[in-house]
Amino acid sequence: MLPSCHSARANSHSEQRLIILGIDGMDPQLLHRFMREGKMPNFATLEAQGDFRLLTTSIPPQSPVAWSNLITGMNAGGHGIFDFIHRDPKTLALYFSASRVEGPKHAIHLGSWSIPVGGGSAEQLRKGAAFWQILDQHGIPNTIFRIPSNFPPVPAKGKTLSGMGTPDLRGTYGTFSFYTDDPTATPGSVEGGQVIPVQVENSRVTANLMGPDNSFRKGSPAATEPFTVAVDPLESAAKITVQDHEFVLREAEWSDWIRVEFRLIPFFGNVKGMCRFYLKQAHPRFQLYVSPMNVDPADPALPISTPSRYSRFLTDEAGEFHTQGIAEDTKALSDGMLDDKEYLQQARTVLAEHRRIFDAEFPKFNQGVFFFYFSSLDLNSHMFWRLMDPQHPEYDATLAAENGSAIADFYQQMDQVLGEVLPRLDVHTTLLVLSDHGFAPYYRSFNLNTWLLNNGYIKLKSDTTHNSNEPLANVDWTQTRAYGLGLNGLYLNLRGRESNGIVEPGSAADGLMAEIRAKLLGMQDPKSQQRVITRVDLAREAYQGPYAKDGPDMLVGYNRGYRAGWQTILGAFPPEELEDNANPWSGDHCMDYTLVPGVLLSNRRIAAQTPALTDIAPTILAEFGIAKAQGMIGQSVFQPGATR
Ligand SMILES: [Zn+2]
Repeated sequence: MLPSCHSARANSHSEQRLIILGIDGMDPQLLHRFMREGKMPNFATLEAQGDFRLLTTSIPPQSPVAWSNLITGMNAGGHGIFDFIHRDPKTLALYFSASRVEGPKHAIHLGSWSIPVGGGSAEQLRKGAAFWQILDQHGIPNTIFRIPSNFPPVPAKGKTLSGMGTPDLRGTYGTFSFYTDDPTATPGSVEGGQVIPVQVENSRVTANLMGPDNSFRKGSPAATEPFTVAVDPLESAAKITVQDHEFVLREAEWSDWIRVEFRLIPFFGNVKGMCRFYLKQAHPRFQLYVSPMNVDPADPALPISTPSRYSRFLTDEAGEFHTQGIAEDTKALSDGMLDDKEYLQQARTVLAEHRRIFDAEFPKFNQGVFFFYFSSLDLNSHMFWRLMDPQHPEYDATLAAENGSAIADFYQQMDQVLGEVLPRLDVHTTLLVLSDHGFAPYYRSFNLNTWLLNNGYIKLKSDTTHNSNEPLANVDWTQTRAYGLGLNGLYLNLRGRESNGIVEPGSAADGLMAEIRAKLLGMQDPKSQQRVITRVDLAREAYQGPYAKDGPDMLVGYNRGYRAGWQTILGAFPPEELEDNANPWSGDHCMDYTLVPGVLLSNRRIAAQTPALTDIAPTILAEFGIAKAQGMIGQSVFQPGATR
């Protein structure tokens, strides 16, 4: 029996401890399947001796939204994060919802140098107090490791490290570089990185590492640092020299983290980053992958922790680690730069680094709240669903024989982590193991904007430029009534909000939304005979709070197996309304939120029958006798009658 007796808990909150394992994307169905297969003995113990519930996720069930619900105890109407991608209603420019990183605004120009005035800034866009800020006000110590939607970290007294939403040094969510002398490779940008053509001359390659935009120079070109590769003419190996580092990689070998200093202006503006090299092939073609340039936690160029020295402390304690928010390089796999095995090596390194930090930090925890985040189940369920599901269009029996157990292996690692926690539980310690959403297959893409176009809700100025890269390029706004942006967002072209809005707010808008909703819900996929969309929520019904009107007007909830296509998310019009998903990104959760609940396990009885993410912040506060903050819409899951 796990120590969990509620009545024995002390009245004093000073002895109270709360451990939260935040496991992104842990799915209740997969968890129970792996438990039945005997792969998750510690989870089985926790469920048998403690409690288990499905955890209602956010609308829409995307990680930045979901974790913001957990962090603030509010929904998107209260915290203002509606999707990975938001739009400016006036310009329809797209931006990442979680944070904005800006270069210095004013500069004095001196030849080709430009001297910034006022410095750059990073701004967090999530609104509302974080639960740990409220704990701070009440003197409850806390450690919050890599919780998403917290970049730059909000001011805090406790130890926090930013997670999902933290950019790489180039200000992106991760841009790899791939150097090759393959003449058939197309140079330039691919989805998640850059292919850089190089020449092997006298067994030597000279190339540049790409750093941050150099805002010290006019036009802000990317800062670069040269490196050289001496390719062994006989062996499948190469010696790489970059700044004062020199190391040899054999083919199919990864380097350690290599620190690189980018000189933005002599003696003045230097920025440190770090990256890993992977020699994919030495001969006959030269292929070298270089990871996105991560912010160096030992000397961060951007704010990533509180106190600011905490990231350095973690490096000293547990070695270097990925700081980039989405550390798993899924794009390099989707783009074909890394294969399944190579990507898995990288993804396992991410988890190994974070487990090393867990192993160093967790034993020291003795007071207050300890929150630790794991990204692995989410990213790897996205990438490897296709190898455990023969129904998936990208299922491949040969690849499945090699890596079909990848998802199960990562689940088992989570069980090992739980195995380190269970012995530490006592009557003063509450454990919550939770996920922000579950998972489902992603078989088919729905191109919402193409559908809106075909159904007359969008009009184009001409029919010839459907496939421009600009978001909503060529849309005739004087005749367009609705448009899709982001993974689940559907917006009206509303008069008074959009610059060229034509839909009158009020009954006209309501009628239009009802019409579109009915049509979407009635749609069937001719291939599968399944409904494509099982739920459409209106923002005004789904959201409470001061920002409820800032996001989409409707949230499109896809059936299991369906998701918005990659191009429609960014406002493009691919020819087909529905198409097979041919990307290795083969599992997803940006669907009807009722179909992808997360999990909630505890060593204590959970009173709430249908707890929601918005109940977690009130639960955390209640553990320390702190009343929930204004605007929080849930209540402690341990209180009888807590149902949301
Ligand atoms: Zn995900």
